[in-house]
Parts: sequence; structure tokens; C-alpha cells
Amino acid sequence: MSFQPIFDAYSWDETKASIYAKTVDDVARALASRQRTLEDFKALISPAAAPYLEQMAQRSHQLTRKRFGNTVQLYVPLYLSNECQNICTYCGFSLDNKIRRRTLSSVEMLQEAAVLKQWGYDHVLLVTGEANQTVGVDYLERALRTLRPHFAHLSMEVQPLDQVDYERLIPEGLNTVLVYQETYHRDDYKKHHPKGKKSNFNYRLDTPDRLGRAGIHKMGLGVLIGLEDWRTDCFFTALHLDYLERTYWQTKYSLSFPRLRPAEGLLQPKVEMSDRELVQLICAYRLWNEEVELSISTRESPTFRDNVVKLGITSISAGSKTNPGGYAVAPESLEQFEISDERSPAEIAAMLRQQGYEPVWKDWDATLTALAR
Ligand code: SF4
Repeated sequence: MSFQPIFDAYSWDETKASIYAKTVDDVARALASRQRTLEDFKALISPAAAPYLEQMAQRSHQLTRKRFGNTVQLYVPLYLSNECQNICTYCGFSLDNKIRRRTLSSVEMLQEAAVLKQWGYDHVLLVTGEANQTVGVDYLERALRTLRPHFAHLSMEVQPLDQVDYERLIPEGLNTVLVYQETYHRDDYKKHHPKGKKSNFNYRLDTPDRLGRAGIHKMGLGVLIGLEDWRTDCFFTALHLDYLERTYWQTKYSLSFPRLRPAEGLLQPKVEMSDRELVQLICAYRLWNEEVELSISTRESPTFRDNVVKLGITSISAGSKTNPGGYAVAPESLEQFEISDERSPAEIAAMLRQQGYEPVWKDWDATLTALAR
């Protein structure tokens, strides 16, 4: 059993056409519905829903408050390595970029962790490029063992692994894995990932299934918005999530929606998504799925983040550095992508309190996971 046959039954072009064909009647029906379907989701992300944004935002706010209360979780990435054997057209760590490569030692990991602990974090997202020789499963296991005594919760955004590898890392404290498909458009995926293990579309598509079978506590999905038509890509993300929730119902899920921003010298987005459209997407995800966690990163501007936090978001990054050693060991090294919101975690926490939210520094306690089993 896997998502692939379900995905293969859909045509990209027909799916896209059906989203753009949605009418205001479809949107009104979706808004009035008690149990929203994937067809309703299509209507809510369609251009026809644009005039309903205010209504969607209010409903999204109410549903999020009802399910998640007045809490917003803070998270932070800890980049362990920028070594990578892949070519990805949009990434500063791509193999063909001539940058200084660095992989943190256990001592350096602890130096970085000390800064994050001082800021108040009790959970951390470990990030590496995809380089089996240097940051393969042995290295990841060592990282978990090194950091586990210092954090209540450890997440990872690293290369997709085999099921046995996840089964090996979960007992070491791996709680959450983020694995973004980048785009569900097969041909465009090939164009943006021409070399390395990541060029295997199907292996990546199957990763959440391997995670689910391994019994991961939480996984995060998403696409890089801008590589292809965002509406179609986000529909496929929702389709994927829908399948996973029904198949691995004990796992929790989160969604992210990083936008590829136009920037000098970097890959320009094929399709630009406006701020209003991103708000529409966030609200559509919430109206369709009341349980899923929705996450926004420091890629977005302070003003946008301040405004969107009450519209459905449940976690927000703060203080992020996207270079290995960026907090203490090597602050000047090259970042994976540029940060738009450079406010400190304390400033973000203050902003949240001002809006009536309680910032949460810990995602989940390991003892609770044990109790849930
Ligand atoms: S996106 Fe990930 S896999 Fe691709 S080049 Fe960057 S670090 Fe490597």
C-alpha cells in the first residue's frame, strides 16, 4: 500500500483545469459545508474564492482557536551540515555551488544547542543536506544521541531514508520528520532536481509512507511554492495528506508553504504567489482540515507574519539561521536561503503575547509519546 497508485490516477493538467473551473457557487457550497471534501478544498483555493477571503479568514481563526486554543508553538532549525550531493536549482547548498562545506562535530552541535537553550527552546529541528558519506544514518544517529539529553523533542529535515533507517532513529529520540515533495509536477521536478538521489521522484513521494510504516510521531509535508502552479501543487499536498491521515492515523501532521521569492542571482519563481493568495491558502487548509498544524517560517516578512499568525497558523520559527554553525560556531558562513524576519525569539514571543497568544517552546514531551502507545 502506498500513495503512488492514488497519485498516478490523477492528471496534473485535468486537476489544474478543474481547480480553475470552480465557481462562486462551488465556493459558497464549500463554505456552508460541515464536512469539507477535497472538491471543497479545490473551490477554496480557486480564483473564484478571492472575494470570500475575509469570511474564510474569520472562520479559519475560529476553527484554529477551537482546536489549538491560544497557543502558538515556536521552532528553530539547527543546521548541522551544508554538504550535499544533489543539484537543486533553487538551493544555496546545491552541489554545483562553490561554497565552503561544513559539517558540525558533536562538540559544535552542543555549542549551537547551548544558544538555542538559552533563548528558551526545548525542541529543535535538525537540518542537513543530502550527503550519505558525511551525513548518513550513522551521523544522524550520533546527532540524536548528542542532543537528546538537552531537548524534549527532536525533529529532522534531512535526506529521505529507508524504513529501517527510520526504525533505527526513532528509538534514539527522532520524533518528527519534515519531507517536502517540492513539486508534484513530475516533469518539472526532474528539471529542478537533475542530479543526485533527490532526482528520484518516486522515492521521495514514497517517503511519508516509509515514515508512517516506521511509526513516526509526526511528519511535515509541503511544496516549494513558485516551482509550479501553486494551486495544483497544494491540491496534491492535500490529496497526499488525506491519504496519509487515513492510512497512518496515529501519526500527527503539519503543513508548510515556503515561497520561492524573486531575488537577484537566484532562481526566479515560475509562478508568483501574492500575500493575499498565501492567506487564502492558509485559510483553505484550515477550513478543509481542522487538525493539521500549519507552520510559517522566517522566509516571510515581519509584517506578513504578524498579520497571518491569527488566521490559522499554529507554529512559527524565530531567530533562525540557515547555515551550519550559524548561532555560535561560524556565524559568517553562507546561508541556505535568506531570512526575511530577523527578529529574535524573545521579540517574536512578545509579538505573540501582544496578540493574545501564549508562546510554547516545547513541542511534545517524549514521556507523552510513550503514554500514547
Ligand atoms: S534543497 Fe536539500 S537536497 Fe537540494 S541542494 Fe539544498 S540541501 Fe541539497
